[in-house]
Amino acid sequence: MEITVVGTGYVGLVTGVCFAEVGYNVTCFDIDVNKIGRLAEGRCPIYEPGLEEMLQKNLAEGRLHFTSDSKAVCSKSDYIFITVGTPENEDGSANLEYLEAAVADIGANLCKDAVIVIKSTVPVGTNERIYKMLQDIIHCDVQVKVISNPEFLREGSGIRDTFHADRIVIGADDYEAGRAVARLYEPFERPVVQTDIRSAELIKYASNAFLATKISFINEIANLCEHTGANIEDVAKGMGMDQRIGSQFLKAGIGYGGSCFPKDTKALEKMTEDYGYDFKILRSVIEVNSRQKQQLFYKAKEMLGSLRGKRVAVLGSAFKPHTDDIREAPSIELIAQLIEEQADISVYDPAATEKVEELFGSRLYYAETVDAAIKGADIVFIMTEWPEITQYDLARFRLFMREPVIFDGRNCYSLVEAESAGLTYVSVGRMSVN
Ligand code: NAD
Repeated sequence: MEITVVGTGYVGLVTGVCFAEVGYNVTCFDIDVNKIGRLAEGRCPIYEPGLEEMLQKNLAEGRLHFTSDSKAVCSKSDYIFITVGTPENEDGSANLEYLEAAVADIGANLCKDAVIVIKSTVPVGTNERIYKMLQDIIHCDVQVKVISNPEFLREGSGIRDTFHADRIVIGADDYEAGRAVARLYEPFERPVVQTDIRSAELIKYASNAFLATKISFINEIANLCEHTGANIEDVAKGMGMDQRIGSQFLKAGIGYGGSCFPKDTKALEKMTEDYGYDFKILRSVIEVNSRQKQQLFYKAKEMLGSLRGKRVAVLGSAFKPHTDDIREAPSIELIAQLIEEQADISVYDPAATEKVEELFGSRLYYAETVDAAIKGADIVFIMTEWPEITQYDLARFRLFMREPVIFDGRNCYSLVEAESAGLTYVSVGRMSVN
């Protein structure tokens, strides 16, 4: 059984390595020659816990291969998983240019029967379009099937999520081809939901939009807490204990970010518009999130006036802990606003510093520790709940800062702790400590 994975980003690399781990012969293909070179040497280009070790093990055991030669992989693969990015177009729709380029490449080189599995998140109807596209391109006498198999892993726990997925979704108009893909997943022993292709495509968007809705909802309740004097931590706890609601995704903060929720909610909104339907809840979810991302900055402005010349430390840049991904991270918007304000900015993140530096260059000071970031600072913004930040000794804020003023977008500390450490502490959905 030969499996090829096209696109070695967060999803493709984790998928390829995990398939190799359960015993398949896997070749990962990418057009990024440098990335392939690094991977072939066992060096992981992304931060994902446990991935580099598993990559090296499977390389050494000869089940995992890397190439940028599409002809070679297309001549031997039984299953070709496509995991290229589908970022956001300016109008919010999903940009399918990478997917179409990958499909064109496969189609031009395919010379044996193969099942093409689309793992990238794509609008409803895309898999059918890809099938038609392949029919036009393929010039050999081969049978090709297209199966939708959306991915649900979370960055930072990608390997765990692959081995313990809540469900594997497979969309196939040809039932037997769908079953064959389901069988590939048997070593993982996870439940499979097999549907028609369009339903599988929509399951992915509906799931992400629902989770985004939970986040925007709890953030709205947090804002209401600030008006009413209630405490969001207690409110969320009390709500979450109701099993019909569940406690996950009820953590108030500065809004969702990352490479999925923002683009997928917008792509779903665009898709519904194209179908002439007005998805009112979704529109509000997106609007609430973009307002929420600004909250902390405006709270700081309201309290302190101009931030010009102020020493500001931003703790955490990744969109969530245990990843180096800064795509659509709330921190990036905040840093851009602080630059505009002409603040003097230091940033600290245990994994994402290199990526932040690529974006902002010499306009920021990149600290290697929390201590170094906050030394002499007037204000701290907490943007990611890394353990290095949540477990930080609060007494050190007082030790290193001029007057410790903390704006915490992730509610990392209890109000009692903050008060007894003598901080001015503003968080989300809770009383401020002064
Ligand atoms: P990514 O940007 O990290 O990686 C994409 C990779 O594809 C890159 O290495 C790029 O060089 C490669 N590529 C681009 N064009 C190519 C081509 N023609 N041939 C071969 N390789 C090509 O993307 P990602 O975050 O892994 O996301 C991939 C897809 O999975 C997206 O549709 C995304 O929405 C979806 N998804 C992502 C996550 C996540 O947490 N990142 C979770 C679930 C689903």
